[in-house]
Amino acid sequence: MKAPEIIRPDSYWQKQDEIIGKEALATLQLEHLTKSLRRVYSNVPFYHTRFDEAGLDPENIKSLEDIRRLSFTTSDDLRANYPFGLLAVSKDEVVRVHTSSGTTGRAKAICFSKNDIECSATLIARCLVMTGTGKGDILQNMMTYGLFTGALIMHYGAEKVGALVIPAGPGNTERQIQLMRDFGTTVIHITPSYSLYLASALQQKGIDPRKDLNLRRAYLGAEPYSEETRKKIEAIYGIDVYNSYGLTEMSGPGVAFECGYKNGMHLWEDHFFAEIIDPETGEVLEDGQEGELVLTSLRREAMPLIRYRTRDITKIITGVCECGRTHRRISRILGRSDDMFVVKGVNVFPQQIEQVLMGIKGVAQNYQILLESYDHLTIRVEIAKELFDGNIEHLLQLQTEITDKVRADILVKPKIELLEPGALPVSEGKAKRVIDNRTM
Ligand code: AMP
Ligand code: ZN
Repeated sequence: MKAPEIIRPDSYWQKQDEIIGKEALATLQLEHLTKSLRRVYSNVPFYHTRFDEAGLDPENIKSLEDIRRLSFTTSDDLRANYPFGLLAVSKDEVVRVHTSSGTTGRAKAICFSKNDIECSATLIARCLVMTGTGKGDILQNMMTYGLFTGALIMHYGAEKVGALVIPAGPGNTERQIQLMRDFGTTVIHITPSYSLYLASALQQKGIDPRKDLNLRRAYLGAEPYSEETRKKIEAIYGIDVYNSYGLTEMSGPGVAFECGYKNGMHLWEDHFFAEIIDPETGEVLEDGQEGELVLTSLRREAMPLIRYRTRDITKIITGVCECGRTHRRISRILGRSDDMFVVKGVNVFPQQIEQVLMGIKGVAQNYQILLESYDHLTIRVEIAKELFDGNIEHLLQLQTEITDKVRADILVKPKIELLEPGALPVSEGKAKRVIDNRTM
């Protein structure tokens, strides 16, 4: 494989933060952590109580590990303190509020100061420059504008690097295609599920994205997707796809991002302190071990969160990336701990099923997992149109192949239903892959 170009601009937003020695980073983190802890202790009654309960004095923080004495902040804490209960600044310092879908449950409100917005945009700028986007690029932003951070934070960061931004928002596929053609879009920011849908819409219109569009790269995030899906999207569009991870609670997109080596996402450790924990016991795990990502915001002003349980399952990749950046990488998100389901006593993430499906020739873009009982699962799979119109023998073979491959991976035999392309609902935002009709 050709080594990707290492992009190291000297632009001000990149500064020295990307390449920083381990010790220097730890010092920087401790400095910002101490500031954050002092601020929440003085200004947020919720954290004041937490510190007192743990017997932790923020004036007396000696090492990063000291925060392990504090209990976790959870999404329930955010809801209980909705909307302004966790503010660490006065309300008139807040210039924007976003909400997090968190993919499950009620919305949570996250407040931003002017400086928080600037910081988030700066981090996105860092990600864009790292992957080659800048002046001259035309970035069509197909994430949802509005209360979610996905679109707006990317928008600000993209403008910062001098790209031309088309604030398209999601959906209205005809218009998306028109915009891509009229403006010669070079970069798209999009959810994996919508990018697959868009690909089939292009195909139906007889447009070959490799020849008829000017696309070079795509940033895909907001929901889990497999490596197989990335490969599929890269092949269909003839572009580079980079994984982009973030969550509103930590400032939106730009928390962790892939570099040209596409081998895990660099987590910007000068802004976020990361721990991986066992989601059952809360025990902190070693690098390389899979568990739930817990993040502490180091530089947020309006609403810093300490030891926030993201519910996202990942691991820290050991070793330094070939690109030379020292920020540690997290692996592709396997799923949210609350997305995991149990069938026949086996823990399954929708991602595992997607990984298998996307590696099978003939499987189209969309699928759905249906749970009707605790010992049975049905997978509805859209398949290529030509197969659907073709020979029944081929369909049965495909059904058997899918059944066998999924069983080999998750150890539960699924029932496979094959559907025509377009038969399953398409979501403009995060895809809903699992329909759980089970009652307790
Ligand atoms: P929100 O705060 O509403 O934007 O949602 C953030 C959540 O979206 C995260 O906690 C993850 O569960 C999910 N998410 C965001 N980016 C990714 C990604 N690249 N891969 C997998 N899940 C993601
Ligand atoms: Zn790298």
